[in-house]
Amino acid sequence: MKKIIFATGNPNKMREIRQILAGLDAEILSMAEAGINADIVEDGSTFEENASIKARAICALAGDAIVLADDSGLEVDYLNKEPGIYSARYMGEDTSYHIKNNSLIKRLEGVPDELRTARFVCAVAAAFPDGTVHVVRETMEGRIAYEEAGQNGFGYDPIFFLPEYGCTSAEISPEEKNRISHRGKALRLMRDYLMQ
Ligand code: IMP
Repeated sequence: MKKIIFATGNPNKMREIRQILAGLDAEILSMAEAGINADIVEDGSTFEENASIKARAICALAGDAIVLADDSGLEVDYLNKEPGIYSARYMGEDTSYHIKNNSLIKRLEGVPDELRTARFVCAVAAAFPDGTVHVVRETMEGRIAYEEAGQNGFGYDPIFFLPEYGCTSAEISPEEKNRISHRGKALRLMRDYLMQ
């Protein structure tokens, strides 16, 4: 049976990927389950590059397995697509999202709805034992809200307003978010590629 390793230490991402890849005839392993412990420096300049760097590096350690890796973040158009690939590191890795979210709201003070456009981006890369890499990218479009709202999700979800729902991505159910999210869509696109 084919082995697929997902390069993350995040148990929530692992749960999501197992659900999405359940239909594949493959054994899905976390890095820990595959016995791999590596800290990869993601020094690319795009989400696609960072996901590829991670997938390729782990694949080199993994023997005969396909390695998947993702990279995601928030792009705010009015802020020249900040925080972008630095989303996790924005204002410091250990700074709370309550502080990060309110900093973004403050930086958009006085900016009208139509200029508050933003998106979550997710790139997923698959590195194969023969050295090839395939990358997909998906987005979820929205706007930066005027205040935090909602308890679901994580990170920037409380300030990510979804116009078609009239609420933030922290106010929709996890199932609905997986259905429309950048990560859910990118993982399903990758699943379809791997099923070919
Ligand atoms: P990574 O892809 O795990 O490195 O995540 C990058 C960062 O982007 C996260 O730490 C969050 O700050 C942000 N981010 C990515 N996806 C989401 C999301 O679905 N909701 C909220 N924040 C997100």
